[in-house]
Amino acid sequence: MADRSESSYRTELDLSELGEMTYECIDGCALCCLCQPELLSHEEEKFRSDPELMSGVTDEHISPEVDGAAIKLQGAHGACHFLKGRRCGVYNNRLHFCKAFPISVFAGWRVQLNVNLSCRGIGLPGKRLAEHGMGILDAIGETRVDEELESAQDVFYQFSKNAKDTKTIQSASSVREACGFLSDDMLDEIGLSRILTYAEHGNTRQNSPAQDIARRARASEPEANVDELALMLGTELFDLPDLSYLPVYVDERLDWKVFQLSGRNIVGYDLSEDGTIREFVKVNPTDISLMPLSEEGKREMERYLMLVNSRDCFLGHAAYLCDEDGYGYNFGQAYLGAMANTIVDLWWRSSFLALLRDKEMLGRDEVREGVIFFDMDLLDLPTIGAFI
Ligand code: SF4
Ligand code: SF4
Repeated sequence: MADRSESSYRTELDLSELGEMTYECIDGCALCCLCQPELLSHEEEKFRSDPELMSGVTDEHISPEVDGAAIKLQGAHGACHFLKGRRCGVYNNRLHFCKAFPISVFAGWRVQLNVNLSCRGIGLPGKRLAEHGMGILDAIGETRVDEELESAQDVFYQFSKNAKDTKTIQSASSVREACGFLSDDMLDEIGLSRILTYAEHGNTRQNSPAQDIARRARASEPEANVDELALMLGTELFDLPDLSYLPVYVDERLDWKVFQLSGRNIVGYDLSEDGTIREFVKVNPTDISLMPLSEEGKREMERYLMLVNSRDCFLGHAAYLCDEDGYGYNFGQAYLGAMANTIVDLWWRSSFLALLRDKEMLGRDEVREGVIFFDMDLLDLPTIGAFI
């Protein structure tokens, strides 16, 4: 952790996820306009002083825990009030959130920029994400980033202290390294089962080296039932009464899809921007099994695993889980368990989407579609630290 007296986010900035990636916003996509953006204080002032802009402001967010002004949604679960024909009606006045997407700025023990891979514009020739990200940081302002960083560092410091006191601590580098050692095991049902068993019942000393963590995970009995877990995660995902909380998948034709558990079936709906829905498919969840991965599918899944393994918000998520659980698990176990759950969820979602396309195997494209469906939810997991 940096010396506070010299701390500035610029000395604690990690842009490695952005690399040389480029993106171009796709006309007519508007996936990111299905979120309900919150207004920053200067934006609120501006919106409240203009009747047209004010018409789209509400003090009620769909998530009751979010306070403050936000943009209204169309209908109960449609798009942003200002979206018309998949075009922003207030483009020159759009919010910081809208301008930042697909970049997320995470403050943990350092500032890290993440890319939301649910955006189909990622990888298209266009703007360099690193440049876009620096522009977003400049717009937030150095003072605010430093303040957020300082308060997030306090939370991480408190987490480390609690983990030390309870003898459950592992360094971030050792759990990440252990996860890297186990990447092949994570792409295999038996390997996943061993890791999940280890996460639940393993016995790891504090501050174990990465090799030791990985060895213990590999030596665990494969007792966890991965298929059952996949079915449970998959059905829980869609088992929400309010459509506005369901994850949205934007398909190759830029149609928005939501899926909801209704009785024994998962029902798929086409979603319109005014919030109306039209049923297009019904699937019994027990018909969805984890499909075999081709070599290309494995490589794609491993690429995503390694990306998640480098995300500070995911590390913060594992820390959040430890804290929620009262530090009953070693941090290494909590981290690997969270990663194994992530892979099972992604594998299940990829298989579900592939089944809708009559596929029987997951290649690179099928896993990519799973990532598009999944990454927005991953970046929304509860975590310690904060997205600014
Ligand atoms: S999700 Fe990406 S491509 Fe789609 S509207 Fe948003 S920025 Fe553009
Ligand atoms: S303000 Fe414009 S860009 Fe932002 S969510 Fe609404 S329609 Fe989309």
